[in-house]
Amino acid sequence: MPKAIGYAAQAADKPLQYFEFERRDPTASDVEIEILYCGVCHSDLHQARNEWGGTVFPCVPGHEIVGKVTRVGSNVSKYKVGDTVGVGCMVDSCRTCANCEDGYEQYCDNGFVGTYNGEDKHSGGVTFGGYSNRITVTEDFVLKVSDKLDLAGVAPLLCAGITTYSPLRHWGVTNGHKVGVVGLGGLGHMAVKLAKAMGAEVVLFTTSPSKVDDAKRLGADHVVISKDEEQMKAWRNSLDFILNTVAAPHDLDAYLSLLRLNGTMTLVGVPAESHPSPAVYNLIAKRRSLAGSLIGGIAETQEMLDFCAEHGITSDIEMIAMDDINEAYERMLKSDVKYRFVIDMATLKQK
Ligand code: NAP
Ligand code: ZN
Ligand code: ZN
Repeated sequence: MPKAIGYAAQAADKPLQYFEFERRDPTASDVEIEILYCGVCHSDLHQARNEWGGTVFPCVPGHEIVGKVTRVGSNVSKYKVGDTVGVGCMVDSCRTCANCEDGYEQYCDNGFVGTYNGEDKHSGGVTFGGYSNRITVTEDFVLKVSDKLDLAGVAPLLCAGITTYSPLRHWGVTNGHKVGVVGLGGLGHMAVKLAKAMGAEVVLFTTSPSKVDDAKRLGADHVVISKDEEQMKAWRNSLDFILNTVAAPHDLDAYLSLLRLNGTMTLVGVPAESHPSPAVYNLIAKRRSLAGSLIGGIAETQEMLDFCAEHGITSDIEMIAMDDINEAYERMLKSDVKYRFVIDMATLKQK
């Protein structure tokens, strides 16, 4: 079996460090990929530190993968050696439940196979993610990536891009809608770009006054400092939809009260501790909805990648070396990312 190298967390309270393991030889339906870039999602940090529970160690995080195909199995029809491809948060699912059949593999009733910390159908062990030099994935969970875009900037689309695109589409964001985005991190900055490209008037809510100019450059029509009550008041009862990407518990009422009649706020951030329960009054007063959304299906992820290629949308990234990953996690915890770290896998060397 091909040897792989990567970075793994050996325990929740340990920094990531160099790790050697094996990938499977491609089966008839598999694609083997040399990883060029891998984005750093806040979910990687949550899981490497076991903040959601259930992390199996050693854990090799990474689910925003772009690379080149190096080998294909005999039945693979969609990809050939040399193609540029992507892999996101899932590497398989049951494929037979109603949700899988409808293209909602992320909501598989039997649980999708996560790109890392998932149950590996082949080895019986755990899956290892993209902080590594290579990966083998069944072709149905591999995405086509346009060579027209900057490939390092494409990597974060595989999670941050689809996680924001899917709810914007599901809740029908379009021309003329007023859309709020809460938090300008990896997910938030993609939400701003995508909502803008879908025709919305975008209001960005941030706790970081230093991000105001960037938010406007990224496409926000208005920027609100969420700690400023007067600024928040000005937006009451006005927004059609809010996408909340914040990775920490906070007062949801402050945002629910900004929705107009029948408006929805969708949570995509998954803090380690729950948010305080919102007040019922805020929901009934304007028939508002509070919802959640998880990444996106494979077909929708391809649709999002094609949409981004058509509109020239990529992530604004800070490229890091593999050795810098622990420092990057610390900066992410301080909301100090402009706006996604991406690991240049050429910096990962055998030790
Ligand atoms: P990130 O880059 O760290 O961005 C989160 C942003 O939230 C920060 O930049 C900051 O923006 C804001 N924030 C952080 N702490 C805050 C606090 N205490 N109070 C208010 N605002 C705060 O993280 P990310 O990678 O975008 O991920 C965001 C969350 O989504 C994570 O919990 C992640 O696990 C989750 N996620 C969910 C899915 C899904 O399918 N639902 C997929 C991927 C990730 P400002 O500086 O602008 O305030
Ligand atoms: Zn992610
Ligand atoms: Zn299923």
